[in-house]
Amino acid sequence: TPGIVVAGAGQAGFQLAASLREGGFRDPITLVGDETALPYQRPPLSKAYLAGKTDAEGLFLRQPGFFAEHAITHRPGIRAVAIDRAGRSLQLSDGQSLAYDHLVLATGARNRPLPVPGADFPNVQQLRGLADADALRAALGEAKAIVVVGAGFIGLEFAAVAAARGLSVTVVESADRPMARAVSPEIGQFFRAAHEAMGVHFAFGAGVTAITGRAGRATGIVLADGRELPADFILIGIGVLPNRELAAEAGLPAEDGVRVDAFLATPDPAISAIGDCVRFPSPFAHGLTPDGTVRIESVQNAIDQGRCLAARLNGKPAAYGALPWFWSDQGPHKLQIAGLSGPGDASVVRGSGAAFSVFRFRDGALRAVESVDRAGDHMIARRLLAAGTPLTPEQAADPGFDLKALAM
Ligand code: FAD
Repeated sequence: TPGIVVAGAGQAGFQLAASLREGGFRDPITLVGDETALPYQRPPLSKAYLAGKTDAEGLFLRQPGFFAEHAITHRPGIRAVAIDRAGRSLQLSDGQSLAYDHLVLATGARNRPLPVPGADFPNVQQLRGLADADALRAALGEAKAIVVVGAGFIGLEFAAVAAARGLSVTVVESADRPMARAVSPEIGQFFRAAHEAMGVHFAFGAGVTAITGRAGRATGIVLADGRELPADFILIGIGVLPNRELAAEAGLPAEDGVRVDAFLATPDPAISAIGDCVRFPSPFAHGLTPDGTVRIESVQNAIDQGRCLAARLNGKPAAYGALPWFWSDQGPHKLQIAGLSGPGDASVVRGSGAAFSVFRFRDGALRAVESVDRAGDHMIARRLLAAGTPLTPEQAADPGFDLKALAM
């Protein structure tokens, strides 16, 4: 029997393989990944690894021996290029094909390109993988003036590391505040001030029209209002696109992510999908999207979907209903988010100054909690949201109200 073949050997694909074996799965498991390294975690690439505080060894999800011990075949440096659904086989970039009983798409996401002239200069880069992080580490050693395009999580984490090195850093953002798509205005304002205190400059409401260069290298960035910012290194961090092409070309629904049902199954019973590449129905997306589906880019989601699918493939099916949670480290501050919030949610702030949480209410119910340096609130929020425990905005706002007791 050919067993399970996984396209993509990242956080989700690796977790699926490990959880399958943990649950007693005995058939072959093959992880096909186009990167050359052992499966590794990405979060440190824009944090400790970028800052030189940990080496590549520290990123690997398991040491090499793990794969042989658990009879998981890892095929690095190989790309899955097409699915033959009728023949149940996956075509690979080395010309071979792999038969499967069940195929799992865990292809993750790739960086959204910045469509302006000059974006292909060698000192204009993006960050997704280990190879990118190595290039950025080298660049940080040489650059003096850095421009970051995009005030999202990765752009801001990179900016914090660069600023801590004493480099001049300007973050250019089309919205009017940092992380505008992901967090409340309160959190955005806090991080704006925190970055400014680290020496980071911002240009908000700023579109980029071109990257200028000389002698084959970028020298600056031109904004829509005509301003030109000099730069000897530019990081583009404007979000990601799901790697949905394998599914789409095989005739599976894959608009803005590979479409799966609550069990992470595609309409083809022999194909499932997990992680950053999927769009799935979430019980936490209430009132957030027209059809109740979301695409989530987080370690939590990749791991929990890997576990959920492994359980189904081991004969214990359950709908995916794990609470979304996320973190971001920016300079001295830790942001933690539990639940899913939307731009229209009402905010209630608990705590003050440098350590506080923003409770986000939508349609009368608590939907998300964003905490800055308040790990206790975050853990309580995860319990409340996962259990669906009712909390009113008045209770959240009352510093005397015992949230911990409510969560017990
Ligand atoms: P990935 O880990 O991206 O794995 C997908 C793999 O599939 C990749 O190796 C890709 O190259 C490969 N692949 C794609 N197409 C093919 C193909 N056709 N054939 C073979 N292989 C293919 N999340 C958090 O929760 N907290 C954080 O602080 C955080 N920080 C991050 C920092 C950075 C710099 C980045 C890039 C991401 C961060 N994330 C963070 C997000 C998190 O890493 C992702 O959500 C997670 O890795 C998703 O797992 P995945 O397996 O779906 O995708």
